[in-house]
Amino acid sequence: MSIEVKNITKRFGTFNALAGIDLKVETGELVAFLGPSGSGKTTLLRIISGLETADSGDILFHGEDARAKKAKDRNVGFVFQHYALFRHMSVSENIAFGLRVQPRAVRPSEERIQARVGELLRLVQLDWVGDRYPSQLSGGQRQRIALARALAIEPKVLLLDEPFGSLDAQVRKELRQWLRRFHDDLHITTLFVTHDQEEALEVADRVVVLNKGKIEQVGTPEEVYHRPASLFVLNFLGNVNLFHGRVVDGKLYLGDDGADAKKEGAKTAHLYIRPHHFAISRTELPDPAIKAVIKYINPAGPVVKIDLLSSAGHSIQAEITQQEYTELKPVKGESVYVSAKNITFLDYEI
Ligand code: ADP
Ligand code: MG
Repeated sequence: MSIEVKNITKRFGTFNALAGIDLKVETGELVAFLGPSGSGKTTLLRIISGLETADSGDILFHGEDARAKKAKDRNVGFVFQHYALFRHMSVSENIAFGLRVQPRAVRPSEERIQARVGELLRLVQLDWVGDRYPSQLSGGQRQRIALARALAIEPKVLLLDEPFGSLDAQVRKELRQWLRRFHDDLHITTLFVTHDQEEALEVADRVVVLNKGKIEQVGTPEEVYHRPASLFVLNFLGNVNLFHGRVVDGKLYLGDDGADAKKEGAKTAHLYIRPHHFAISRTELPDPAIKAVIKYINPAGPVVKIDLLSSAGHSIQAEITQQEYTELKPVKGESVYVSAKNITFLDYEI
């Protein structure tokens, strides 16, 4: 089921929660809504689900106007961060719930319901917990059961609002990989809300970056990370170092202390550089290299984090590979040269 969102607006009092959202999600896609708290992610998801109505704009499901349909008729399954399972029902009863409340005319037989519950338990790889109660499950297991319950009605669209938000980091990581594989098998059109950049970049086919009720960028994880459309996206998707320099005759001077950089016609440049795009060397590098002193080294991780202070007084956060670290053997307090292998975003003032 494809979903089309056309110029959706939503106000709460005088507050613009959504200001003209346009988006097309293809059948079978897994799309993440990524943005800080309050950016409008949940509101947009609720409007798509039919739990909330927009002030203006259109929602099309498979090309048809969805607004005429109530939430329960839109064929969507939900999982929320705090979507508590029914505590007094066993896991199997929880999963069966959506089927048991269907009108008699369409409700499957008890036998069919039991078979479907069994299938779903196997699907979320928890077929041994059917008789347990939610309090006897871990947080991660509960969210998988919540997903099984959402899938019971065979939804055409799956809406997940920070489904792993309340779980600890290790379980979150496992579950997002699990969700990715799960989606690859089932291919249900899925919208996944998160404020966690890593989660969005790892799970989604495409990422929608939201800020203050507007879309900043829509793109594949690679596009939004490596080719951010705005400073907001750049900053939101990971660490970045900012430098102010001067450009004269096509040559860049950082820290504008060189006499050339003060020449007439010089333009101010702002450079945004990701930590892993720095090269560190003991011998002087080609321009524009910065002389800096190493202030802190943390090798405990997949990359080695190095904080430096440039001679012009700027702090720099760099990351080098473990191999580069072993080869260079940098030490705290030593003076090195830093240069940028790649500039993610360059901003000129004219
Ligand atoms: P997100 O899910 O990205 O954190 P929300 O969509 O929940 O953001 O909220 C967007 C903004 O709209 C927030 O500033 C929030 O306070 C406001 N908001 C959301 N729902 C309501 C409501 N029912 N009444 C008033 N303001 C609301
Ligand atoms: Mg929210």
